[in-house]
Amino acid sequence: MDNIRDVVIIGSGCAGHTAALYTARANLKPLVLEGHEPGGQLSLTTLVENFPGFPDGIQGPELIENMRKQAGRFGAQYQLGHVVSTDLSTRPFAINLGKETIHARTLIIASGASARWLGLPSEQALIGHGVSSCATCDGFFFSGKEIAVIGGGDSAMEEATFLTRFATKVTLIHRRDQFRASKIMLERAQNNPKVEFLADTVVEDVYDPAKQEVTALKLRNLKTGRVWDLPTSAMFLGIGHIPNARMFEGQLDTDQDGYLVTKNYVHTRVPGVYACGDVQDRRYRQAITAAGTGCMAALEAERFLEAQGE
Ligand code: NAP
Repeated sequence: MDNIRDVVIIGSGCAGHTAALYTARANLKPLVLEGHEPGGQLSLTTLVENFPGFPDGIQGPELIENMRKQAGRFGAQYQLGHVVSTDLSTRPFAINLGKETIHARTLIIASGASARWLGLPSEQALIGHGVSSCATCDGFFFSGKEIAVIGGGDSAMEEATFLTRFATKVTLIHRRDQFRASKIMLERAQNNPKVEFLADTVVEDVYDPAKQEVTALKLRNLKTGRVWDLPTSAMFLGIGHIPNARMFEGQLDTDQDGYLVTKNYVHTRVPGVYACGDVQDRRYRQAITAAGTGCMAALEAERFLEAQGE
């Protein structure tokens, strides 16, 4: 078997780049498979104010690009490729990219998590036509229009606040009247005169797939039972994420929500396979914690290769 890599890293978000930086500096020439969302969630966000070292904050895409450059400077290699399946039953592990199979002595899984959707057929039909999970990508298209944001966590608050740059009004719709969002982000949205909150409310339908644009949302108040249509030009989802771990089904353990199960921080049940970042972290899910576990996975891979004499 030729071209066996010491380290392959699946995913190029904060965890993947950090694992790449550390393994590159250990002279292991890591190969990073970038996946279909290169840069991960940081590339879809705006100002990051809670990553230490940037007293004035830093734009998410700039932060992730800096990480990539830093790892690249020490020899990390990057390749675009979507992992179709893996075979972790024997070493070297096989990573199937469809047209090509890559073999690796150690594997670091940093495949992150992708946006969750409501799952309504009308919502799915209108993705890219007024339905979006990325305010920074699509907000600009709705300048001077009214926008709805769904969710009650930090993502929804961040999106709602950000979208007031473009929208005449943002309606934040949440299924409960309690919010998971941190106090500071919730208050920022609440204090924004352009944001209106609708609590205890769910979206039952999105109009109008026939017109290929969003014209209104059918809403239901869960406490009063009232059903009504809210005219809007766009619906942005901020309802959390689903871990990207399906390609490891049957090979690695996942919890009831699909997160990879790790012990001792980053160890999967297969020796030589490590998981870091949002694909295994349902508790913290921060850029800085993803970077931290990316570092741990890199150090474990390095130690594993050393112990194997490889
Ligand atoms: P989250 O905290 O899990 O919140 C998801 C929200 O969506 C919840 O309010 C949830 O409602 C709602 N939701 C979930 N499924 C739904 C459905 N099917 N229909 C309607 N509503 C639904 O996710 P997140 O806001 O993406 O945040 C994830 C992590 O990233 C958090 O740790 C957060 O602090 C962090 N984050 C930080 C920043 C920042 O600091 N700049 C920005 C964004 C995210 P319930 O509450 O009723 O379950």
